[in-house]
Amino acid sequence: MTTTHSNTTSTIACLVIGMAGSGKTTLVQRLAAELSTRDLCTYLVNLDPAVIQIPYEPNVDIRDTLNYKDVQVEFQLGPNGAILTALNLFATRIDQLVELLESREEQVDTFVVDTPGQVEVFTWSSSGSIIAESIASSFPTILLYVVDTPRATKPLTFVSNMIYACSIMYRMQLPLVVVLNKKDLVSTEFAQQWLNDFDTFDEAMQQLEGDYSSNLARSMALAMEEFYRVISCCSISAATGEGMDELWNCIQKAAKEFSSFR
Ligand code: GDP
Ligand code: MG
Repeated sequence: MTTTHSNTTSTIACLVIGMAGSGKTTLVQRLAAELSTRDLCTYLVNLDPAVIQIPYEPNVDIRDTLNYKDVQVEFQLGPNGAILTALNLFATRIDQLVELLESREEQVDTFVVDTPGQVEVFTWSSSGSIIAESIASSFPTILLYVVDTPRATKPLTFVSNMIYACSIMYRMQLPLVVVLNKKDLVSTEFAQQWLNDFDTFDEAMQQLEGDYSSNLARSMALAMEEFYRVISCCSISAATGEGMDELWNCIQKAAKEFSSFR
């Protein structure tokens, strides 16, 4: 964390969500490194109780107060149940986290919150909603939905991923930025086209002609046009740092839209 707050606007909170392995943790590290080169100060929160190693130095780490293996033994749970229970226990003390963030507001430009590997642990649990809502009640808060782009190159997997993102946005009622990650491995142009122009998606779907799921996906994609209209999207590589300018612009734009989501 650098020490000076660069501007007078409100501190933004970014909740980094996405499927396991999409690159959330790598992105948190990259975003912090990138913003520090612009003299912007980040404050990093790790909410993944099961992560073994993280490539950044968190300012707040759920693992400091909750050992997920102990939770597993104490409550006789499987790994997923233990992660969820650890998050529930953390959520009971969310007021302390918010107070801590508020006490850092003057020095910090952006709070960045890393979430558990499995997306549903945060996005479909009461504790995830409580944590998001509590942070959003104090700061303009946005969702960074990280997409593992090499795993979303097929029209069906892509639209499924977008439907999931859409459901999270409506559940959390927060502005959402779709972050097409891993552009060092695959061109993200196809996804940008599909998001901006339904006809290009439709053309890709026509290759699957006759398949019942292609008709469903085409109807879904049409219905998704309104979602695509309200989100921002950018292509990055969290590994190489490509596209971080565009991401930062999207973050600032989404933060400005925060009040219209409440
Ligand atoms: P998380 O589960 O969403 O937190 O994902 P991680 O940040 O742990 O990343 C999962 C794997 O993807 C790791 O092996 C990362 O090194 C790799 N990874 C993340 N971002 C990128 C990227 O932009 N490009 C490449 N090539 N690999 C990446
Ligand atoms: Mg992670």
